[in-house]
Amino acid sequence: MADDCLFCRIAGGEIPAEMVATSDEALAFRDITPAAPTHVLVIPRAHWANVAEVAAAAPQTLVDMVRLAAEVADVEGVAGDGYRLVANTGPSAHQTVFHAHLHVLAGRSLTWPPG
Ligand code: 5GP
Ligand code: ZN
Repeated sequence: MADDCLFCRIAGGEIPAEMVATSDEALAFRDITPAAPTHVLVIPRAHWANVAEVAAAAPQTLVDMVRLAAEVADVEGVAGDGYRLVANTGPSAHQTVFHAHLHVLAGRSLTWPPG
């Protein structure tokens, strides 16, 4: 746990978030500024800066995150219509929180390619 990390503080229960689902390795909660009708963030409970670091250090945790994202899509009722998983990695990709996370986006027709 990094003291100055926003998502570590959410994982530690210090900062509230609207939880949607949880697993042994990961948490899913609603994004505070939703970009789509369904916008949920899936984070590992432990701190890594981005998903590439998770994949290198703890591949099973990344698998757990993707499974949890699929569960979120199920419980949100969007699995049939479809959803998008996004992992912004680095400043040019607009990563703003440097604790690994997947965005689960759904509930409207999503444009492609993204901006
Ligand atoms: P990034 O830009 O790093 O890919 O995504 C970070 C996301 O975290 C953004 O979509 C932003 O809206 C969300 N976010 C930032 N602060 C908070 C917060 O305090 N609570 C929640 N639930 N989401 C947050
Ligand atoms: Zn963290």
